[in-house]
Amino acid sequence: MVDHKHIVILGAGESGVGAAILAQQKGHAVFVSDFGTILPLYKEELIRLGIPYEEGKHTEGSIMGATEVIKSPGIPDKAPIIKKLLKKQIPIISEIEFAGRYTNAKMIGITGTNGKSTTTMLIYHMLKDAGLNVGLAGNIGKSFAKQVATESFDYYVLEISSFMLDNMYQFKTDIAVLLNITPDHLDRYDYQMEKYAASKFRITQNQTEKDRFIYCADDLGIINRLQKMNIRAKAYSFSLKETTKTDYTNAYLENNQITINLHLPNQNPFTMSITELALQGKHNIYNSMASGIVAKVLDLRNESIRDSMGSFQNIEHRLEHVASISGIDFVNDSKATNVNSTWYALESMPHNVVLILGGVDKGNDYGMLKDLVRDKVRGIVCLGKNNKAIHDAFEDDVELIINTTSAQEAAQMAYHLAKKGDTVLLSPACASFDLFENYEDRGNQFKKAVKDL
Ligand code: ADP
Repeated sequence: MVDHKHIVILGAGESGVGAAILAQQKGHAVFVSDFGTILPLYKEELIRLGIPYEEGKHTEGSIMGATEVIKSPGIPDKAPIIKKLLKKQIPIISEIEFAGRYTNAKMIGITGTNGKSTTTMLIYHMLKDAGLNVGLAGNIGKSFAKQVATESFDYYVLEISSFMLDNMYQFKTDIAVLLNITPDHLDRYDYQMEKYAASKFRITQNQTEKDRFIYCADDLGIINRLQKMNIRAKAYSFSLKETTKTDYTNAYLENNQITINLHLPNQNPFTMSITELALQGKHNIYNSMASGIVAKVLDLRNESIRDSMGSFQNIEHRLEHVASISGIDFVNDSKATNVNSTWYALESMPHNVVLILGGVDKGNDYGMLKDLVRDKVRGIVCLGKNNKAIHDAFEDDVELIINTTSAQEAAQMAYHLAKKGDTVLLSPACASFDLFENYEDRGNQFKKAVKDL
């Protein structure tokens, strides 16, 4: 029996419009409501398909009658319309939950505080190279729901943020990857790490013994909570630390070589020197290990995995080399929007650094950066409206901390401070919304400013 519902979609971005397309295709009545302005591209699509919508408001009369609401992950539970829906006990789900009902494809879900996009792309690249019929979706690229409506993939590699996980209930991943859990977005979790971690672990919900759970054994945020969880899936772990590695660790580093061993009788372990990996830096060894375990679970050939790991082109704004000018390297890591990702960026820098830091601070604790800043950073260029926390944190660790308010000014100042052989690193540890549209805008303006030097 077909179950026709009245579905309201809140937020008309990539995921909302995709969900509207799928809902309409499945015969549901659909209404889309966006409190902001809808991008012309999405508006045209809604008009073309005859899907009713509104923008600049949420009309309660059109929303409160919904049988189910699909919410954009960007809308917090504190938004007045969400509070009203919750009070009336109208189910609110994510686009992924909705679209998951209409596909039998195998789901590979990737979550964590940092490294989601990189790892998602690398896994996708590996599966595609190996000839699998695979789609890429979630927090990245084209809407999952839209692809479910228009494509017929056998596998999906999904980047899943904690905001998406919060509204997922029945959805199940066949392979779940949990990269790390460090403080971020705590404003959405009542400033409680426990709540944020619980959200991340929802990636394992509904998994059975037939499914797989891949996690980082070095990450305390994961390990502390894992002990309290009842994980049904078969678990595989990866580690870079001698101290956490055990005989059961499935991916580890030895003599600069990664080994991936699922301990299966009919499978040879995978090995590769880290110098051959396309993605460099310690954090990327983790990302490569996690991706490699997925590949082995799917029984891809070692040769194919090696080729893919060696040929992957990293995505923009993640430790992206921009240019070398007068012997100074410029690196764009604009996607580093929390302290942990900046730590890994700094850690991977071979020489002295002029660090461009700042923006919207989500309650940062800069303490973990202090040792690295003392060791490697020649000067800090702040790029943000309010830089007090940065000055307070590092005034005893570096000689110079300078304020700037545009990417151009920051690039010029950093160039001025840097010496031959140094790296100018934009790795802000903060969100970008005070001075830029988003992290991409910040990275693009920085790249342009560097090219104009
Ligand atoms: P996400 O999609 O989770 O935001 P990205 O792959 O876009 O992650 O990377 C975001 C930032 O985090 C980049 O600046 C990158 O240098 C850093 N990073 C990538 N992978 C990791 C990791 N495994 N651990 C810590 N930091 C990482």
